[in-house]
Amino acid sequence: MERIVIGLPDIVIEKIVSSHPLIIAVSYTGTPQCPHCGGKHLRIKDTFRRTIKSIPLRGRASQLQIVCHKYLCGNCGRYFNTRLPGVRVWSRSTELLKKSVFQAYNKGCSCKDIAAENNIGLAGVERFYHHMARHKAGHWQNRECPHVLGIDEHRFTRKQGFLTTFCDLEKHRVFDIAKGRSAGELEEFLLRLRGRDKVRVVCIDMNPAYRRLVKEWFPNARIVADRFHVIRLVNHHFSDVCKALEESSLAHGRGRMMRLLLMRPERLKDHQAGAFNALSCGQTGNSGSLRIHA
Ligand SMILES: [Zn+2]
Repeated sequence: MERIVIGLPDIVIEKIVSSHPLIIAVSYTGTPQCPHCGGKHLRIKDTFRRTIKSIPLRGRASQLQIVCHKYLCGNCGRYFNTRLPGVRVWSRSTELLKKSVFQAYNKGCSCKDIAAENNIGLAGVERFYHHMARHKAGHWQNRECPHVLGIDEHRFTRKQGFLTTFCDLEKHRVFDIAKGRSAGELEEFLLRLRGRDKVRVVCIDMNPAYRRLVKEWFPNARIVADRFHVIRLVNHHFSDVCKALEESSLAHGRGRMMRLLLMRPERLKDHQAGAFNALSCGQTGNSGSLRIHA
């Protein structure tokens, strides 16, 4: 009975050649096609066997043996070898194995463990990791900008300065991070960004520099002030007002009024409620209208 090798389309198991080490003879069931012109009028000029390392099956590293051909395309007259799905032209390992090594390394497995589990060398682990990292980086560079974008800065290190984080607010993920925070520092990054004109909403803090940057680089986006920053700004001014109102009691951190305002009304003890009413009536003439949690 034919069994499909996990993750490799159009490749089926023929027989088990050896169980220690695990070597499996497989065959390609797809229709060969010229990679240059797409022609299907082909002549077999040579036949050879390829050995390809694959992902471990039931905890054992596996190798696939597959019969391939050298073809001559009757359409364009060019030669080519059998193309296998999930295996690069000159590669001796499946892309799935490289991906599995990449994921295992990212999870914190050591090079030695990964090498032993997949029956590859330490240099192989490193090579596969670099290959996948390049592949991922290429993929990231071609990504389109998210339609709902969040932009904010944060300090990276004292020496390196600031970073700007771009978030995909629909998927709640970090989209990318760029060094610097001014328009000049971010210019190179923004030039590389694809689909800027398709951005519908940009969520930023109330920094006028960011507002100018968004207007210049995301022409079709609506600017939304981030709720976190709006509330922080309100809180900041509120605490300034409280400090100004009762300067005498500010010797030990936050003033009494600010502490009372931050408490839920139902948790205020009688003497605290009395003090709060006295303070708010005295300062505003309208008790109860001044409350943060209410
Ligand atoms: Zn051709």
